[in-house]
Amino acid sequence: MAYENLEMLIDGGWTNGTSGSVEQVFNPATEEVIGELPLAAPADLDRALEGARKGFEVWRRKTAVERQAVLEKAASLMQERREEMARNCTLEMGKTIAESRMEMDFVMGVTRWYAEEGKRAYGRLVPPRFPGARQMVVKEPVGPVAAFVAWNFPGVNVIRKVAGALAAGCSIIIKPSEETPATAIAIARCFQDAGMPDGVINVVFGVPDDVSRHVLGSPLPKKLSFTGSVPVGAHLQKLAADTLKRCTLELGGHAPFIVFDDADVEAAAAAAAAHKFRNAGQVCISPTRFLVQKKVHDDFVDAFVAKAKSIKVGDGSDEANKMGPLIAPRRLEVMQRFVSDAAEKGAEIHCGGERLGNQGWFFAPTVMTNVSLDMAIMSEEPFGPLAPIASFDDVDDVIDEANRLPFGLASYAFTKDGGTAREVSDRIEAGLVGINHVGISTPETPFGGVNESGYGSEGGIEGLEAFLRTKFVTEMGV
Ligand code: NAD
Repeated sequence: MAYENLEMLIDGGWTNGTSGSVEQVFNPATEEVIGELPLAAPADLDRALEGARKGFEVWRRKTAVERQAVLEKAASLMQERREEMARNCTLEMGKTIAESRMEMDFVMGVTRWYAEEGKRAYGRLVPPRFPGARQMVVKEPVGPVAAFVAWNFPGVNVIRKVAGALAAGCSIIIKPSEETPATAIAIARCFQDAGMPDGVINVVFGVPDDVSRHVLGSPLPKKLSFTGSVPVGAHLQKLAADTLKRCTLELGGHAPFIVFDDADVEAAAAAAAAHKFRNAGQVCISPTRFLVQKKVHDDFVDAFVAKAKSIKVGDGSDEANKMGPLIAPRRLEVMQRFVSDAAEKGAEIHCGGERLGNQGWFFAPTVMTNVSLDMAIMSEEPFGPLAPIASFDDVDDVIDEANRLPFGLASYAFTKDGGTAREVSDRIEAGLVGINHVGISTPETPFGGVNESGYGSEGGIEGLEAFLRTKFVTEMGV
């Protein structure tokens, strides 16, 4: 089975664009070149903008039930193509094939959920102040959407934006990551093959900063939706400001994972390790600061280290492997920098701490204790398989630490005490809180951060709302 044919989708047509420039796509497990990705010239981006304008005029006029039919058909095609899409996702991103299959199931789940939910973009009737008036609050699609997404979930990052926009009646221009293009292209093919009108979905690639400046510099897109790092999110928000586009920013975090001494420590360690090393830690909601109450600290460390050591790392295409490589060599350097900095400042490295082998960008699951706040890893998002574990005294202590950083995406707490659980969820600065489990991301629940982790939700009714605007219409004498 071949890797995806890499093309852009512009105004209903698959194309290599007009720039003549290409970028190589690598398999991070083998370092082999697996494809050549065409990059857009400014003229191609202008065609995508014009396509999105025309596509919006067609798509917004469809009934919600007509839109649902196309989304449902696309989801069925994803089901048929699941194995091929999962395989390509693993080839280009490196995550294990089991994780890629789960990701494709999530992609279908999001598509089906929005397909249904598009029918519920309800407005309301407000009792009038003026006799004989009829006051209507109407929900409309916000307009063409510009979206940019990172490489860590080549399918989920894309579909949360595409399905939300389409269900609301918007068109979209999306620039997926140049490092993981095939999954996005395969998703777009499902929508095109399901009968999507031309121009409703446009998929482009290029030099990220050039593309985002060009697309966001145009007044045509009315909304920016971005998933990626905090600095890039802040930069894109500035670009969107000139034309006052609405924004949804799903950015990074530094998730506290709190274990109180009344918790089931074995269960907490098992959940923590599975969640930490999923996708080699390259997940925005990955737990990154393990905070364990003093009495159970050593038991937790023992259980967690045992689990980390047992993870079989290797090419994700091999079903036997449970953790794949990092996306690119630059990320290996970042991991090494975090580990060296922590070790120099007195951290104890229990396992890992280094690159594995010399082919493929693998970094070992790494656990460190005796960590202190002057270490970079305690303040900068590692975005890799590194787990620093610290201890704490009481609930005030741990809430202060959890809220010390400007981020606020995911947070987790393990305790059997209802009062403690409530206190943590009330006081913690985070958009997502998992108590005694880590299942904080589903198609039907809102997903998003607060503070410097961004704002706006994807998923849930809030995810649809993000692509709608409100119009007030008051009528008399009709
Ligand atoms: P990066 O910030 O260079 O890139 C992240 C993504 O943003 C890439 O896909 C890239 O193509 C895109 N991007 C970069 N500049 C852009 C621009 N000007 N316009 C549009 N898109 C642009 O970081 P990286 O080294 O690839 O990844 C590591 C960092 O990214 C980590 O700090 C992590 O927090 C963050 N990240 C976050 C998420 C998330 O889900 N929130 C996902 C991936 C990466």
